[in-house]
Amino acid sequence: MRSAIALPIVLAFAAPSLAQTRTSKTLDIYILDVEGGNATLFVSPSRESLLIDTGNAGEAAARDAGRIMEAIQDAGVRQIDHLITTHWHGDHFGGLAELATKITIREFIDHGPNVQPGQAADGFLQETYPQLYAKAKHTVVKAGDTISMAGLDARVVTSAGETIKTSLGGGAKPNPYCASFKPGDSNAEDPQSVGAYVRFGKFRTIHLGDLTKNKEFELVCPTNRIGAVDVLLGLHHGVATSNSEVLVHALHPRVAIMNNGTRKGGEPEVMTTLHSSPGLEDLWQMHFSLLSGQEYTVPGMFIANTIDDQQPTMPIAPMPAPAPGPGAPPPPVHSGKAYWIKLSAVEDGSFTVTNARNGFSKTYRAGL
Ligand SMILES: [Zn+2]
Repeated sequence: MRSAIALPIVLAFAAPSLAQTRTSKTLDIYILDVEGGNATLFVSPSRESLLIDTGNAGEAAARDAGRIMEAIQDAGVRQIDHLITTHWHGDHFGGLAELATKITIREFIDHGPNVQPGQAADGFLQETYPQLYAKAKHTVVKAGDTISMAGLDARVVTSAGETIKTSLGGGAKPNPYCASFKPGDSNAEDPQSVGAYVRFGKFRTIHLGDLTKNKEFELVCPTNRIGAVDVLLGLHHGVATSNSEVLVHALHPRVAIMNNGTRKGGEPEVMTTLHSSPGLEDLWQMHFSLLSGQEYTVPGMFIANTIDDQQPTMPIAPMPAPAPGPGAPPPPVHSGKAYWIKLSAVEDGSFTVTNARNGFSKTYRAGL
């Protein structure tokens, strides 16, 4: 599914430009709208790039790869230095082959083989993926590994079902939430997710892919080896098989940015956990979610994307998803312009979050 304009885009990015010498004092993070999938781009002050996931597969692959390229262009980077595919689900690796036709990817990072047999993932891993990394670096990471990026401390904290065993910074404190933990269910691949922790000066953030509750428990119990973070990214789209209090409350994020879809995530249980999270100042959402209703959702200024046929008012009650199956109506469509949420962090720990849809921006002062 290569579009006719793919070639000129490649040439444009291969050509020398002012962008390649651009540096900044900020770590920039773009949280992209890939309609309930994941694609999160980190650009370091030296303009090294780390992309976590590549959006959806099938017909959505070209759309999502295009949206990733828009952010890459905005950031002025010429290549993807490191790509983490958190796990082998189509909403996380789906746009990868398409993206690789548009920009050079230097390193492909993953947790290893797919453990949830399925034609799409297995076919991709057997046929397509080895061709993509043939002329690049392929790294299967373990918990505790470092991703080399100048000026940043980027660590793998979970991978292939294992979690780091030692604390990231100094002594790990006992986690008081562990006592009330309730185990959860999951599919096979979500718990395998590569989770990344990134520190820039005093600013700290974490993206755990679709890591599920039982692994969250292993990561932060009986002691919290992560400590506190300023920003919690991803949140498995806001799905309730993840986002236990034991993790969210213990990480004590000031800001959470959720990669939910129009009817995926933003589930009441997760929203309750977030709204009651000690120290949380704001939740930002990639999408309006029907599953929230006014009862649970955040004000619209914190939501990057809506739906094409917007209702004039939003009901207070959440709108539960219909029973799954072939007869289930599809979620509301968002085919119009996609907007990202951009975060810029400074070494002193302060950071600004901006909603590209409405220009609403908020700066969070450096913590203590
Ligand atoms: Zn997912």
